[in-house]
Amino acid sequence: MSNGLDMKPPGPRENAVVTGAASGIGAAVARRLWQRGANVFMIDRDVDGLRSVSSNADAHGGMVGIFQADVTDGEKIEGIFAEISRHGGVDSVVHCAGVARIGTVAEMDEATFDFVLNVNLKGTFLLAKHAMPFLVNRKGSFTAIASDAGTQGASGYAAYCASKHGVVGLIRSMALDHGPQGVRCNTICPGFVQTPMLDQLFADNPSDRAYYEKTVPLGRFARPEDVAELAAFISSPAGAYLNGAVIALDGGSTAGYFSSAATPG
Ligand code: NAD
Repeated sequence: MSNGLDMKPPGPRENAVVTGAASGIGAAVARRLWQRGANVFMIDRDVDGLRSVSSNADAHGGMVGIFQADVTDGEKIEGIFAEISRHGGVDSVVHCAGVARIGTVAEMDEATFDFVLNVNLKGTFLLAKHAMPFLVNRKGSFTAIASDAGTQGASGYAAYCASKHGVVGLIRSMALDHGPQGVRCNTICPGFVQTPMLDQLFADNPSDRAYYEKTVPLGRFARPEDVAELAAFISSPAGAYLNGAVIALDGGSTAGYFSSAATPG
């Protein structure tokens, strides 16, 4: 017969860290995770964006915390993880912060190349480095949002493409290094996603938008929520055997050659 004294205290609540959470994919991931009851710690350099996203938090019993930081600032990131760990540890990181700049190697200056590599690749390294001791403690999950430009070339996106290939390689190595410690490391490679980043990329060439949308067999770009759903799955118990995966989330655009003219209907 059970009485109050037999009852176990509730287990610790899931602590999730989401970078790039002030906008687009990161904001959708934060929303998805707080809807499942996680404590969500949001990191971004854009503090107004963080405030605006978190002000709509209908947290299901969890808490939502915001931290303004540039992901290239290792010391700051280290301090943030130390602070988050005081709330019980870190179960998952979904690293979404990133930048895109257009240009071939001939067009792009060195500073722009360094900037893109620093934010996208070194930023992933710094997040992973400072999260890892806490993820090892909780046998957690690290998911990076790379891109379809991390598994294939993209004309006019030399630095972006190089940085995202780097992210895929880094995560695969992390899966081998830290899988034996119980930490799962995975990469999502979206095609085009309807976010402010996409609007900015197509601002000068709106006709490109319609052109690229026709190259997607499913006939539309992804929504941030499509990416958030997969990120939430990976960090949940349902994703427990996923490690080192590089998951295309692109409506089929990297599956092979595609002619929109051949589409039925
Ligand atoms: P977004 O511009 O809407 O959001 C990116 C967020 O990252 C912003 O809030 C920005 O402030 C933050 N950020 C950028 N640099 C930062 C830094 N140095 N430190 C801290 N925060 C920083 O873009 P998004 O479309 O949501 O992109 C999220 C991720 O998904 C990026 O890594 C991007 O490369 C990747 N991605 C986007 C698309 C797409 O079509 N939108 C496709 C594939 C992959």
